[in-house]
Amino acid sequence: MVTCVDIRVLNLRCGEAYNGHIVKQRKEYAKVSAYHIYEHGIVRVKVPVPFPLRWVNGYILHDDEGYVIIDPGLHTESSIQAWGMVWEELQIAPQQINKIILTHHHPDHYGLAGWMQQRTGSEVYMSRTGHGLAQRMWSLHSGEWMTDALCRMFAAHGLPQDKQEKMREHLRSFYPLVSPHPEVRYLEEGEEWQAGSLHFQTISVSGHADQHLVFIDQERKLMFCGDHVLPRITPNISYLPDEDADPLHAYLTDLDKLASYDVQIVFPGHRDPFTNLQARAEELRRHHVKRLQKMIDLVQSPANVYDVCLAMFGEGLSIHQLRFAMSETLAHLVYLRRRGYVHMDETGLPYRFIKIRDYRTE
Ligand SMILES: [Zn+2]
Repeated sequence: MVTCVDIRVLNLRCGEAYNGHIVKQRKEYAKVSAYHIYEHGIVRVKVPVPFPLRWVNGYILHDDEGYVIIDPGLHTESSIQAWGMVWEELQIAPQQINKIILTHHHPDHYGLAGWMQQRTGSEVYMSRTGHGLAQRMWSLHSGEWMTDALCRMFAAHGLPQDKQEKMREHLRSFYPLVSPHPEVRYLEEGEEWQAGSLHFQTISVSGHADQHLVFIDQERKLMFCGDHVLPRITPNISYLPDEDADPLHAYLTDLDKLASYDVQIVFPGHRDPFTNLQARAEELRRHHVKRLQKMIDLVQSPANVYDVCLAMFGEGLSIHQLRFAMSETLAHLVYLRRRGYVHMDETGLPYRFIKIRDYRTE
């Protein structure tokens, strides 16, 4: 059971206390409202995102001299409003926020960090690799290189011309949502940090995002896991140009690494905190095994990635969903190819995959 103190602050009556402050009013913000307060004063803020995910979880932790924020969200007006309302309601002055910590470089976690740094004057921490990737994907200059490389890769794997154009526009539309970029300091595997009574060890995992950081308080058995493990939804595994050559392998390896920790409550990047880390990790592993088996079936006759992607995920995908679906399909086919289950025919464009043998779990 998730222990939830003062659960659903929106249901608190006026006059109840948070952190010594009296909640004076109840507020809601557009569509996905709410924040929740958990044991040790951990506040989970549902920061809206304009994607099917609906919200990303930002967290507020008490520090001796102020507050720490984990993952501020995407740079949109509604994110800014959401934080403004929560700060106001919990009587947190922006200047009291002295650390912003990012689990990984994806726009829905990283995008608002620069704005929040300017607003609060706080330090921003993330992994060195994550910082490099954020710069490469989402800065106007090198972002264009990445957009180009991604669209060229998708084209070689069968993405039709009209969808390539839409994809290009779609990727460019992210630049303002991740601007300004923050000045960052680096936090790496093994480093420890404190937020009030909570004492965290930093763990680095890859597969969903390279050098994605996870924070664990072993004594209190709680973990902030970002997007590496999510309840109810499956974290996306993307094969991207010039990045991890086998991201699904990295993902599954690091899933085992996280599942080896004894924790009672996990605070994820999306959806609700959950308790059953080992069982959820096992479900995710089984999901990928099934997906690998299905993909082999889909390349009994030669097929390109776009064809497999549509057969796997359906035809009605938005361009946003199509980007993730193409990269996810590639991640699985690359995994199978590296282990000799499928062959990639590169003699003509688009490249085509073909089954060599059935998939067996290793
Ligand atoms: Zn992510």
